[in-house]
Parts: sequence; structure tokens; C-alpha cells
Amino acid sequence: MATKPGMVGELLIRAGLIDSAGLHSAQEVRSKSHVSLGTALSSLGLTTEEAVAAAIASGLQLECLAGSTLPMVESEIIALLPLQFCQKHLVMPLSLQSNALRLAMSDPLDYSAIQDVMFRTSKQVVPVVATQTAILRLQDLFPSKTVEADETYENLTGASPEGEVIAAEDVEEAVDADKLARDTKLAPVVRLVNLMLSGAAKAGASDIHVEPKEKNLLVRQRVDGLLQEVFKIPKHLQDATISRLKIISGMDISDRRRPQDGRSRLRFEGQRIDLRVSTLPTQYGEKVVIRLLDQRRAVMPIEKIDLTPENLKMLQQLLLRPQGMILVTGPTGSGKSSTLYTALNWVKSPTTNIITVEDPIEYQLDGVNQVQINTKAGVTFASGLRSILRQDPNIILVGEIRDEETAGIALEAAQTGHLLLSTLHTNDAPATVSRLFDLGIEPFLVASALIGILAQRLVQRNCVFCSVPHPPNPETLQKFGGIERLPADAKWMAGKGCEKCMQAGFKGRLAIHELLHVNDELRALITARAPEHELRRAARAGGMRTLIEDAISKAAKGLTTLDAILQVVSPDDAAAPAEGTEATTESVLPARGIRQEPEISGAPKKNENSKPAVTDGRARILVVEDNRTIISVVKYFLELEGFDVLLAEDGLIGLKTAQREHPDVIVTDVNMPVMDGISMVKTLRADPLTRDIAILMLTSEDSLDSETSALSAGADDYILKPVEPRRLAARVKALLARSKVRQVAGVER
Ligand SMILES: [Zn+2]
Repeated sequence: MATKPGMVGELLIRAGLIDSAGLHSAQEVRSKSHVSLGTALSSLGLTTEEAVAAAIASGLQLECLAGSTLPMVESEIIALLPLQFCQKHLVMPLSLQSNALRLAMSDPLDYSAIQDVMFRTSKQVVPVVATQTAILRLQDLFPSKTVEADETYENLTGASPEGEVIAAEDVEEAVDADKLARDTKLAPVVRLVNLMLSGAAKAGASDIHVEPKEKNLLVRQRVDGLLQEVFKIPKHLQDATISRLKIISGMDISDRRRPQDGRSRLRFEGQRIDLRVSTLPTQYGEKVVIRLLDQRRAVMPIEKIDLTPENLKMLQQLLLRPQGMILVTGPTGSGKSSTLYTALNWVKSPTTNIITVEDPIEYQLDGVNQVQINTKAGVTFASGLRSILRQDPNIILVGEIRDEETAGIALEAAQTGHLLLSTLHTNDAPATVSRLFDLGIEPFLVASALIGILAQRLVQRNCVFCSVPHPPNPETLQKFGGIERLPADAKWMAGKGCEKCMQAGFKGRLAIHELLHVNDELRALITARAPEHELRRAARAGGMRTLIEDAISKAAKGLTTLDAILQVVSPDDAAAPAEGTEATTESVLPARGIRQEPEISGAPKKNENSKPAVTDGRARILVVEDNRTIISVVKYFLELEGFDVLLAEDGLIGLKTAQREHPDVIVTDVNMPVMDGISMVKTLRADPLTRDIAILMLTSEDSLDSETSALSAGADDYILKPVEPRRLAARVKALLARSKVRQVAGVER
């Protein structure tokens, strides 16, 4: 369902179909029931569903599913999406044209629905506007409509939980004598909580979110990084359920206003799972988050963490060194600590003294002394590490290096007879070296202590139960530079979706790696503070396989898909040639003969050297984007703001249009088939004629990586997708204002 009903509503008001009071009433209807805006408006007698659909379609220049005869939908098209999903988003797949899925939608601006569909189907989505009535009638084509039902508390009451909850030792049994405490001992509540916990353990969930909503208590769990709804608990059992969770975690149930932390344990299939429980007061009650620290994940054999045979051998060699520093790097949630625990578990022996300093201690390892950070008690990474060194350890694990002090002590320890393992929050192996420099560590110290860096990411693993041979689509191949750049003997596979993977096609995650072994050449380069691309070149010459190369080779073995890889790493990483970064830009520069204008030194004044634009003084915005929905949305709203909008479907076309038309602002996507946004921006910035055009980049990943790459490529600003039209318009205006100031002041970039 649309999360921003205002966008379509605004469109209808501008089209003169309704007024803002009508929109307001319709939104009230929608807040109470799961209906489209059109249905809400027609139920109020303000207009008809068909008129709404037609207005949306014409406003956004999209196809409209009109008339009373509904189209036929092939069964293989219906099978692309599960019914429950289509009901939730009010959508229906219609047909497939090459890789574009025509999707009936009541709200074509529901970008999150579009993203979900693209993710599930790996297809581009072409929205077709339809009324809710039409969509519901089309959904009757699903074969299993009658048997599907939401998993609710009622469905679960018959089930019996398989695990057993053990209260934490420090729990005082008699917390309170009031009704609340008695309620928590009621059999249904106890069983419900046990069911919630054992169900999560069974699904391999990493955390459970128990969230009070207005009408119920929502229970969700995170499996393979994705949150999924488990069930809803009736409102009248909310207090008892939350109190039960607090009691087993040793919290004070009478205090509901303060956030609390606690712990508990679950015995499941003979294993002990530690639970970290925390509460947070919210509008409708206390929200409870339970982290499951599953010991089973910690003791994974080192052969099972997806390292290639070469990387496995190299890592084992590094772990057997008597001293030096090994860093595991990647963003949060990339499986760094699992890898470190696995490594420690492999290297430990009765004769090695292993001490860790962590925050938090995620897994308890037998035969390892683990120290928990406690800032209040003065135990920081740095101070903990100092005390550890007095205990004569052979191997030290420092949970994370965050500051100069910790980095300094760690590097020193790594040079004085200790093997030191830690993590850093960096993108790739070569960038880790720069990060250490940024922390103020002298290059020679880094060079002499560092022995290896393992960069890691997790990508979705193809479901083994439903994977079938499936070649990547041409668009995806283009993003990877074409089929000729991919392994010739590849066995591409993809999951079709089955019960075991909840129709996702993926089950579990697969680690991809980049292992940099610091050899003599690299050591010399680090000492000389060589730039990252030189480190990368030397590392690759020394046999390092980059993250993207590792990912591609795993996809070529059928373990994951190229599209799944794109969610995590950018193929640009692979495109960076061994010689450095310059060549990327050069290779996409247009041939020199194309440009007729003479080279001008200094900042050229706008619209004087380039072809004069035929405008009536309105600012011109060039939108470079390959997604038709985004193009429609962006164009529509920018035109409403009084801008002239030019369109280009790809970076290369965008580049040529920019050179020819010299727009005031360019709004560009990052990922596009022929030339991506980053390369386009770099090229524009390298050219005196286009270098002062203001550029706004649309980045899709909500990560630091894309932000920094957007800005370092030369974009003036970036905005995260999904695009909110008003925010976009505001940013474009701000850029225009700034570039005017720049022009007046004659400031060069
Ligand atoms: Zn499956």
C-alpha cells in the first residue's frame, strides 16, 4: 500500500478531479481500511474509481487498464508473485515483455511496492494504472486464493513450541505480586512467548521485534537480514506478553517508562541460545527487541564460511603466524564477527592463550577469555587491551578498532609477539590501509604490523530447494560489462520461490571475500603512503581476488544471482582496471572529434559558449534515469514547479544531451545500463564546457558507500530513493540558487 498517499492525492487535485477537503476525507477512510485512494474517493461519492485511474495515468503518462473486460493473464505470469504479496500491495502482474513486467497498480507511485516486485522477480516494472476493483477481480485468477490465510495468533494456539525458555540466573522469581505478574504465568502467555522464541530459533532468526501497535502487538523476526512478520497478538494479551518477556530477562516489570536491558536463555534442539533483550517505551506500549546469539553459528567450521580454497589456505597461514595484525572489514551486518569467531575457534589449542575484548560478547567460546567493554566502569577497548597485554596472551581479539588510541595499542601489540585480530568498518581491503592512516597511525607502523585484511560482504544465497538454471537478463549483464567479461563456463542459477524459502527464491546468505595478504611489495607501498589504487594494483598482482570477482565466480557456480550481488557490491569495483582509476574515465570519454567548441580555459559562462537554449527564462533540468516510473514521477513534479524537463534514458545519452543543451541542473541515477551515473558525472566534470552544471544524484542504497561515491565523483548533492517529489524539487531549487551565486561571483569549481 502506498506509504505516501499525498503524492497521488496532489496529482488528483492538480488535475482538478478533487479538492483538498475531499482528499482529506478519503485519507481518513484509508486510515481505517485497506483500500486504494480511488476506492476511498468513490465510496465518498466524490468521483469514480475509473476517473481517478484515468487521471493518474494521464498525469504520469502511463498506460491505464480501462474498460470492463479484464485482460487474460498467463499462469506463469501469475506465478511470478505470491497472492498475499499482491493483496498487500494491491498489485497484479499482467504480462512480460522481454524483461519488463507490466504490473497493474492502483498507486503507480508506490515505489516500495515496485522495488519489492523488482526484487522478487528480478524484472523491470512497468506500472499500468488500474482500479482496485479491477485488481481484486484479477487476483481471483490466483489458483490458491481460498486456502491462503495470514498466520495469526489464532492459527498458532494449537501448535506446541519446541524449545524451552530458561530464566536468567539473576532473575528474582518474585518480582511483583500484582495482577500483571500473575497474568504472565498464565499458560497461554507462557506458551505464546515460548512459541515466539523457539519459532525464531527454528527459523534461524537473528532478532525478534515485538511491537505494540494501535490494535495489536506485532511480532516480527529478522531472517537473513530481512524482517518478516510472524504473527499478531491480540491487544488484550499485550501487557502480559511484554511482562513475561521482561520477567524471563530479569527486568523490572513495574517500570514501563525507562528503556531496560536484560538477558535470558533458550534451549533449542539441545543448543543454548543466549538472548539479549531490550525494551523501549513507545506510543502504544513498550517495544521489545530480542537478539538471539546463537552459539551454533559461532562454531561453524572454517571450511564452511564460503572462502575459496586459495583464500582459506591463505587465511589459515596468516592465523598460524606468531605475530601480526589481521583485520576483517565490512559494513555492519556483513558477518565480520562470525568470521572472527570461526577463525579463533579454528586456531585455538590448549597451549594458546586467547583473550578477547568485545562489545558485546556475541558468542561464548570455550577455552577463550572474553572481556566485556564497560565504559561506565572504565573498561574501554583501549584500557581493556592494555590490561590484556599484561596477561601474556598469544592471540588477542579486539571487537572493533574505532579510535586512534585503540589502533595504536593494537598495532604495537601486533609487533611484539601477539597475533591480533580485529574489525574495521571499511569498504574494501585497500581502503582499510587508508583508514588506519586517517586514524593517525604512521605508515611504517601499519606496514610492519599488518599481515592481512579480509574484506567481507553477505549476499543472498539461492534457495537450494527451488534453484533452476537461469541465465541473467541482458540488462544485468550490461551492468557487469557484458557476457564476455563473465566466466564462459558459468552455470547461472536462480530460485523460483518455494515454501522453504517463503517464495523468495533465496535462503540463507553467502559470504563473498577479498583477502589481501601484505607481501613485501605492499609493505613498501604502505610505508611510502601509496594511494589506494596502487595498493589495489599490487594486491591484485599478488593474487588478490576482489569482492566483485569473488561474487561473480560464486554466482557463476549457481550459488547466488548477479542481481543479488548488485544489492551488495557495485560492478564498478571490478571495472576499476589494475592501472588505476583514470582509465575508467578515459574509456568513456567521447571521441575528441565530436566536440566543435574550442577548449576554453577558466570557467566558461553558461549559455554563451554552448548552443543557446530556446527557453523563456525557465530553468532547465536534465533527468538521466532508466526507470520509467521514476522518470514519470520526477518529470511530472519538476514541471509542476515550473521547470523545463529534458530526459535521457542512459548516462551516455545524458552526457551528449548535457554537452548539447547545457541544462542548469542534472538529476541523475547511479546505475544505468550503458554508462552509469558516476562515469557520466566524472566525464562532465572533466570537461570545461560542462563542469559547472549543478548535479544531483539519485542513490538507491541507503549506505555511506553510494553517498561518498556520488560526492567524490563530483555530484553537488545526492538524494536517496525512493524520490520524494517535494524534497527533490527543494534540492533542485537549492542547487539552482547556489549555482547562480557561483556564476555571479565568477567562482570556479
Ligand atoms: Zn525455495
